[in-house]
Amino acid sequence: VFGAFWTFPIILYGSFVLRRKMAIFASLGLWAGATISTFAQGGVSSAARVSISLLLTIVMINIVITVLARAQDQLTFQSITDPLTGAYNRRHMEVMLERAACQSERSGTPHALLSIDIDHFKDVNDFHGHAIGDDTLRRLTALVRARVRSVDLWFRMGGEEFLLLAPDTRIGEALGLAETLRREVMASPWPNGHEVTVSIGVAEFANGESWEAWLQRADLALYRAKHGGRNVVVG
Ligand code: GH3
Ligand code: MG
Ligand code: MG
Repeated sequence: VFGAFWTFPIILYGSFVLRRKMAIFASLGLWAGATISTFAQGGVSSAARVSISLLLTIVMINIVITVLARAQDQLTFQSITDPLTGAYNRRHMEVMLERAACQSERSGTPHALLSIDIDHFKDVNDFHGHAIGDDTLRRLTALVRARVRSVDLWFRMGGEEFLLLAPDTRIGEALGLAETLRREVMASPWPNGHEVTVSIGVAEFANGESWEAWLQRADLALYRAKHGGRNVVVG
């Protein structure tokens, strides 16, 4: 009967150390073992006390673990997304670009980057106010996400600058996608009837280069798009 007391800390320890399913199996196994052995040693009343209190402990531990796991998921999500648009942030961009570059080096899969910047965005804020500016950023995110594949990753680099990572995509396809996006942005209705256009720089990962160099090439192409009069795609 006294041995049954040890199952409480053991179950608590196991629940935090083992994998979820394994921990539940082990807990229920210990619960059954403790119930049977206290019944054999101390009769029904001891067995009932041990069994019910142990079962309540298992349920409570699992509620706490579920709440913690949910909070952790939320924190992870918040740490990689931009709160205004819901796009991934710069921190996540670094991780994903490095991963894409490594994969490309290893397997030769082509990956493309589209560096996208809203043209004269300052005017949207100046003429219509910051709230309309924010709304424009959100709508651009919605427009792009509705158009691209689910494997494509959309990052907000800061301000009105965004980046699209298109995995398994060659430069030719990426230029086509960029042109489609540019046209859709131009043709879409925008808050307060303000006309919005974007300039896009495109670069495919080249073997041997770092992800930083790859990003720099996409930014350089964007820079040329801006200097070429804006509302254009440059590869
Ligand atoms: P360009 O065509 O050369 O890109 O000109 P631009 O006006 O788009 O670029 P510039 O860098 O001069 O201005 C960017 C503006 O973006 C200035 C800043 O007030 C605005 N901005 C940056 N972040 C936010 C934001 O979160 N919300 C809003 N509403 N505006 C923002
Ligand atoms: Mg801009
Ligand atoms: Mg800018």
